[in-house]
Amino acid sequence: MTNESAKIKVESLQSDVLKAKNLEISIGKLPKEEWTEEPMGPTPMPDIKDLRSWDMKLLQKYPPFYAPFCDMCCLCTYGKCDLTGGAHGACGIDLTAQQARIVMIACAIGCACHAAHARHLVHHLIEKFGPNTALEAPDIAVEAPLTRLICGFKPKTMRDLEIGLDYVEKQVTTVLAAAHTGQEGSALDFESKALHIGMCDLLGMEIGDIAQIAAWNFPKGDPEAKLVEIGLGTIDRTKPVVLMVGHNVATGVEVTNYLRKSNNYGEVEVCAICCTALDQTRYDTGSKIVGSIGSQLRFIRSGIPDVVMVDEQCVRCDAIEEAKKIQAPFIATNEKICQGLKDRTADPTDEIIEDLVSGKEPAALIFDPDKAAEVAVRVAIEVMPKRKKLSSLVDISEVQNIASGCKQCDICERNCPNNLPIPEAMAKAKEGDLSMFQEFWDLCVGCGRCGQNCPNDIDPLSVIASAGDALFKDDKFMIRAGRGQIRDTEIRNVGAPIVLGEIPGIIAIVGCANYPNGPKEVARIAEEFLKRRYIVTVSGCAAMDIARMKDDEGKTLYERYPGEFDAGGLVNVGSCVSNSHIVGAAVKVASIFARRNLRGNFEEIADYILNRVGACGIAWGAMSQKAASIATGCNRFGIPVIIGPHGAKYRRQYLGRSDKDESWMVIDARSGNEMYAAPAPENLIYAGESVEECMVEAAKLCLRPSDNFKGRAVKLTHWIDLHKRFYGCMPPDVDKYVRIEADIPVTLKDEITPILEEKGWSPREIPDPTLLRRLVRKVKE
Ligand code: SF4
Ligand code: SF4
Ligand code: SF4
Repeated sequence: MTNESAKIKVESLQSDVLKAKNLEISIGKLPKEEWTEEPMGPTPMPDIKDLRSWDMKLLQKYPPFYAPFCDMCCLCTYGKCDLTGGAHGACGIDLTAQQARIVMIACAIGCACHAAHARHLVHHLIEKFGPNTALEAPDIAVEAPLTRLICGFKPKTMRDLEIGLDYVEKQVTTVLAAAHTGQEGSALDFESKALHIGMCDLLGMEIGDIAQIAAWNFPKGDPEAKLVEIGLGTIDRTKPVVLMVGHNVATGVEVTNYLRKSNNYGEVEVCAICCTALDQTRYDTGSKIVGSIGSQLRFIRSGIPDVVMVDEQCVRCDAIEEAKKIQAPFIATNEKICQGLKDRTADPTDEIIEDLVSGKEPAALIFDPDKAAEVAVRVAIEVMPKRKKLSSLVDISEVQNIASGCKQCDICERNCPNNLPIPEAMAKAKEGDLSMFQEFWDLCVGCGRCGQNCPNDIDPLSVIASAGDALFKDDKFMIRAGRGQIRDTEIRNVGAPIVLGEIPGIIAIVGCANYPNGPKEVARIAEEFLKRRYIVTVSGCAAMDIARMKDDEGKTLYERYPGEFDAGGLVNVGSCVSNSHIVGAAVKVASIFARRNLRGNFEEIADYILNRVGACGIAWGAMSQKAASIATGCNRFGIPVIIGPHGAKYRRQYLGRSDKDESWMVIDARSGNEMYAAPAPENLIYAGESVEECMVEAAKLCLRPSDNFKGRAVKLTHWIDLHKRFYGCMPPDVDKYVRIEADIPVTLKDEITPILEEKGWSPREIPDPTLLRRLVRKVKE
């Protein structure tokens, strides 16, 4: 165990100065209570090297495929080094290792982001509620599965969580050190470190979320968490509006507390963008979710917010400038985003308010959440009548005139990540037809790059927002508030059907909003798998965007499907940090259903998930380093992830070689024999081109070597049905996934049997699969 803590027990001690019996001395931090029910596994608090052999097993099965986005390196002053044509840099690194290094750095940034967020929360909550605040939740005995699994202890109190964070922070430092010039030179070892830090990232997220769930009494695994409002049109513009942007809800919670304390609750509209919004509604269901990250520019420019307050992560760096344009005071609250502002934390509250309201200062940096919250509310109330919801969008009457100035140079279209045909829309708008810009309302990811690059100072994003003003008002939906963990009782109910394959899979739709064709794509994916009675879990921006589709009766998927972790359930776990509960659910299947020990036992549990738990992540709009890290962390746990076409810019996928039978051998835990198990799951991280391809691939990636014949038939039915629907034919490799005749879905027997005959198929045994020889129950003679 690499943690620097130690507990020493001495039965009797006698020296010149001391005489003692049953003495117990603790050095360093230790959990409040010892965990005695489970024996310690082989890798508590693993270093990079401790799980390297597991990583190499994965990387052998799923070799990294690099699509170099940049083949130069400019990390040190020997460079720039051109690494093309097999050249090595001045430090000796080659292009493959350099690509892997960049991926690893991205994952380390992602992990650091969540860990720092969790550290801020835990520190703040210990200050507020004390170190002994209990972490319990009803019906959840295994309340911190990732901490148990990775660290080998069972956290009971807020203070215990610090031990896990110490571990994560140490790993981030070590992984980042490997990126320095003249350190690691192997692509596979960079990948092992990326997998390691991805795993640590999930641990940091779990710590952050269980801390806030416990202290602020967020829903604790509640399948019936309340429905809350989401959408730009839900914000009451007749009230003073405080807008929060980011991921850390510490100040948002205090905004609600201050409103209640000052009897202003309901008088001020509290709304937020990105994960702060999801967490805010876990605390206060009267708050509103504006939307995912892509709504920042549109909403600020609309002039509706009277105060723009930011915390951390996924906040636009120009949010402060955009707030100035609408004369809304800007408040930064977290040390990761200081924006060059003067620290006003120690200044008298009234003085800060006076400066912001009078316009003497357009912005303030306030690290104290209570003070920042009071300032935000009072300033919003006082500035609203002065600024009169000043908007920086173009007036609709001006659009035709603006469009007339367009030179049709195409620069905006070339800079648009989704290649939206802006020049064509401008040509139509010049004639008074705004229909194309209205269509862009849902397709534009709100990055603002078109306007930044227009040589004629035209801002197409503002035109989109103005043209869509009518849509703006109707932009109202309902979403279920984040429920947090999955309950043990739910795992008990679904454990067997998941492992045997009778529930066809867990589809986790997560991540950011950089979609190729707008947010409705994620709703479409969710609906497809809900109808097929998969368990659909969602989080973060994807959870918000899934709400943006209504049926004919005006109901969103959250209103139509239950929030239970069960077949056909739509489970919104919460914000980005709640992603940890989705992986935690897979871990709990191994622990609660299969009774595998969790404690410090990562490799065995990951092996169990890879071979038996049909889960697949979909990060269709993955954009950030955090998303790279989360996906890579899921991969280390044996969970495959599909990313959208923009995800290819992460530059690395883990793709299995289905043509190489030797890659798909598993060990049969009953006999110790090696057996062919087919490419299941076929890939670990895969960039899909279209939403249709994504759905087919997701169904396929839920196949597992351990499926029983009934489960395999169910999974094949869904995969084949989707394949036929979207590609118009039977999957060409269907024969690989039929092990015995009973695997063939009854309704497809007539179609599949001739294919099997043609391919010379013969039945094979269903393995009790593992990649770890030590798990073989019978030693081979
Ligand atoms: S780190 Fe290596 S490859 Fe990169 S610039 Fe320096 S010498 Fe060149
Ligand atoms: S703001 Fe919208 S239209 Fe402009 S470049 Fe970004 S995605 Fe394209
Ligand atoms: S960059 Fe500006 S001028 Fe060029 S096509 Fe786009 S909007 Fe028109």
